[in-house]
Amino acid sequence: MDFALTEEQKMVQEMVRRFAENEIAPVADELDRSERFPADTLRKMAELGLMSMLVPAEAGGTGMGAVAYALALMEIGRACMSHAVTTSVTNMVCEGIYRFGTPRQHARYIPRIASGEYPAGAFALTEPGAGSDAGSLRATAERDGDHYVLNGTKVFITSGTHAGVVMVAAKTDRDAGKAGISVFLVERGTPGMKVSRKEEKLGQRASDTVELVFEDCRVPADSLLGNEGDGFKIMLSSLDGGRIGIASNSCGLGRAALEAATTYAKDRRQFGRPIAALQAIQCKLADMDTQLEAARLLTLRAAHKKERGRPYTQEASMAKVYATEMCQRLAREAIQIHGGYGYVREYPVERYLRDAMAVTLYEGTSEIQRLVISRNLLA
Ligand SMILES: Cc1cc2nc3c(=O)[nH]c(=O)nc-3n(C[C@H](O)[C@H](O)[C@H](O)COP(=O)(O)OP(=O)(O)OC[C@H]3O[C@@H](n4cnc5c(N)ncnc54)[C@H](O)[C@@H]3O)c2cc1C
Repeated sequence: MDFALTEEQKMVQEMVRRFAENEIAPVADELDRSERFPADTLRKMAELGLMSMLVPAEAGGTGMGAVAYALALMEIGRACMSHAVTTSVTNMVCEGIYRFGTPRQHARYIPRIASGEYPAGAFALTEPGAGSDAGSLRATAERDGDHYVLNGTKVFITSGTHAGVVMVAAKTDRDAGKAGISVFLVERGTPGMKVSRKEEKLGQRASDTVELVFEDCRVPADSLLGNEGDGFKIMLSSLDGGRIGIASNSCGLGRAALEAATTYAKDRRQFGRPIAALQAIQCKLADMDTQLEAARLLTLRAAHKKERGRPYTQEASMAKVYATEMCQRLAREAIQIHGGYGYVREYPVERYLRDAMAVTLYEGTSEIQRLVISRNLLA
């Protein structure tokens, strides 16, 4: 067993850490307040190769691999969760197009995502009546000559306003249950696809979360990703990888919370000494550090298995449920250590807790991760 990172992985980690500290962290608070989509920094991140990390170089990506990808997202999540979720969803879409797409789809979309010409990619599965039970989705795609016609509503779609391309799940066969679901690549500006609502969120406020409505939205037949009926498998398989991304983002946020709490505990004096000298505070910091390390190891293990081409569904769910719940606990503890100052906007820890509350919801709630884990355990 080797826990050491390769030289390439260390270089990616170092490069992204520098970028995140210099370019993302300084704007994170203002972006949270203004709820402004971070188009400028995302473009620079694409230039650094961070939007196509899971796609090999010969297909137009940067092919850094799943472990380097996890390390990069940990650095981005440490600086800003809005950037982190936008980046992880875009990479998931880019990888989905690579894994399931035709050469024409590769050539059309991967360079545009990789270069930053598209500010983001989006993944549209959830509907008003189909959340955790995604297989019950009702959007339809009917074949009409050399086109499909999409109708339906997708909710909570990350980057739905800005994405150059959206992976949309819809039923091509209404009577076939999950086996009737297919996926389409729908380009921004396609007539019939419109943003009908922008969500105002508790946290991750600079990420874009919208409702997308499809009304007689005609897409060419070659927009189909994979085969008709493969859509549910494509979306779930993409989410397996996506969960490593969300776990990584959460490790980054956990790290930020721990660092803020440690710095504050050393500075803040009560009873004539820094509160870091109090054992009650030391125990909190020790627990936070231990939980963060456990989450990091679970996440890197899942990424390592994925990179090796081994099955990793179980590991990804374990990493996701543990890391997301860890970052919520750490954000809460960071506020507790800051006392009253943790509850006001002068310090970043209140943002950390607001941002942390989303991660146990998207890409499968904690309850759904536990179902995946126990199903494997009991099989
Ligand atoms: C900020 C944000 C961004 C998002 N981005 C995207 C995106 O880009 N694309 C996309 O498609 N979706 C996205 N989502 C949607 C997200 O994936 C769903 O919210 C999530 O799948 C849960 O669905 P739901 O909200 O309908 O909750 P429900 O499924 O209604 O669940 C409600 C509660 O019941 C629990 N529950 C449901 N079924 C079970 C069960 N079988 N056993 C135990 N408990 C259960 C859930 O865990 C939850 O606690 C996003 C959501 C948010 C908040």
